[in-house]
Amino acid sequence: MKNLVISVPRLEIHRPPISTAIVCNVIKQAGQDVQALDLNINFLRWLGKHSEYYNFDQIWDGERAITDSERELCIKFISQYKDKIDLYNVIWISVFGGSCHLFTELLCDFIRTHLKNKTIILGGQGVVTYHVGKYAENFGDIMKRKGLCDIYISGEGEETVVKVLNEDLNQPGVNNPKPLQLNELDNLPFPDYGYYNLDDYDYLTPNEKEVFIVGSRGCVRHCTYCDVARHWPKFRFRSGNNIASEMINHYEKHGVERFYFTDSLINGSIKAFHDMCTQLAKYRNDYKVDFRWGGQFIFRPKRQLPQGHYDMVAEAGGDTFYVGVETGSDKVRWEMDKKFTNDDTEWQLEEFSRNKLHCFFLMLVGYITETKQDQQDTLDMFPRWKKYVADGTIRGIDFGVSLKFMAHTPLERMIDSSGVYFLDAGDIYNGETTSNKDTNLWQCTTNPDLDVYERLRRRVEVQKEAIKHNWPVWRGPTRLKAVKLLAMKYRDYLADLQPEPKLYVEESTGYNWFK
Ligand code: SF4
Repeated sequence: MKNLVISVPRLEIHRPPISTAIVCNVIKQAGQDVQALDLNINFLRWLGKHSEYYNFDQIWDGERAITDSERELCIKFISQYKDKIDLYNVIWISVFGGSCHLFTELLCDFIRTHLKNKTIILGGQGVVTYHVGKYAENFGDIMKRKGLCDIYISGEGEETVVKVLNEDLNQPGVNNPKPLQLNELDNLPFPDYGYYNLDDYDYLTPNEKEVFIVGSRGCVRHCTYCDVARHWPKFRFRSGNNIASEMINHYEKHGVERFYFTDSLINGSIKAFHDMCTQLAKYRNDYKVDFRWGGQFIFRPKRQLPQGHYDMVAEAGGDTFYVGVETGSDKVRWEMDKKFTNDDTEWQLEEFSRNKLHCFFLMLVGYITETKQDQQDTLDMFPRWKKYVADGTIRGIDFGVSLKFMAHTPLERMIDSSGVYFLDAGDIYNGETTSNKDTNLWQCTTNPDLDVYERLRRRVEVQKEAIKHNWPVWRGPTRLKAVKLLAMKYRDYLADLQPEPKLYVEESTGYNWFK
């Protein structure tokens, strides 16, 4: 059998895709022919401009419908690959998330229409995506029902791919959303980036090749708004030595010195993280290699960390970490189940500063229990920690859009007890929705002061305050565009209710959206 493993938009453009690099290696180790095709990076190169590529984001994210001309453009792009795809019998498509659905559908439809005798197999977290309150069919089921794929694989692919190659389809995770989790991650094959042209990627620092690393799957935390536990119910991690060996392997094979961890938390297991740092620090010193790496990170209480922990992280090449600080309110952060405080954050910022480590804050404004005092606590954060902005420890802050309810989260299970309702054409969530709710547009009876207007006001207020204290706002304009879209949806909702809506949306992307 000849296998083609395809990645589709929208994915990261700054590094080659890891999931397909793993699948390629699994298929190769099973003794079959395999090649990779990255249609995501090729789409960027074909469009020619980043702005044109990013224009599709609102479509991939479902914020607006694709126009006829945009659809034609996508099909024109796909059609260039007709002859190449025709060389293979089995087409594996990696559906990373909901943002890959539309392109996947266009691609599968093209293959079905123009090519004969192709087996299409979908995999990735995006095949089992549902909408809140609507669980009859996931994306994989829908694609099968439409005849656009033959098989879908949910969960981790390493073992399931081999079973599918052996036509052993009566398995957990094959055409069903109930995969078994793999427990022993150290035995899995490394991703093989040799299937890609590593010069094609849009590296964050030009000419510095960077690849993804998976150190763990799942998360040690269970933050109320997060759906990681749905995909990975149990937290599993590789040993520190195994992770360091993989990084050294990519360096020795491809000269890669930059790494980004896909883990929910790079330091989910303190022991594995510390062991990895110890081995990397030694290799770095012995061979004078300039490893630098980063990923999502959690601040922890000081008592949980070994002495000299952050000195070792710096020696190992730890560089930039993305930390879900979420709020300046200890109360709200505790209610989110994050389990660290402002004092813990301050201690860690001091350690980061001393060791020249860097971080980005990831924030969530307008949590379901957030009060005016909690908002004030967040505003107080900006002057309090601006010295860490000034010395470069804090490199930026991402405010996101606002709290959105996601399927299969603890927060979704709190909908009834918190009196949450969605302003979806006035239709109140009743546990058995028949339409797709806009889960951004919610209010709740247990915190009536926090209506959509107030959430939007607070969201804009924190950004203004951060800028006042010179905090670099990461993805500022993109996020504000999405906030503005939410404001416009709210305006439309209000317009149906009252002749004079109190919300005013300017045409430009500015702050003055409120009368
Ligand atoms: S720490 Fe991050 S990944 Fe883990 S549960 Fe919380 S939000 Fe999700």
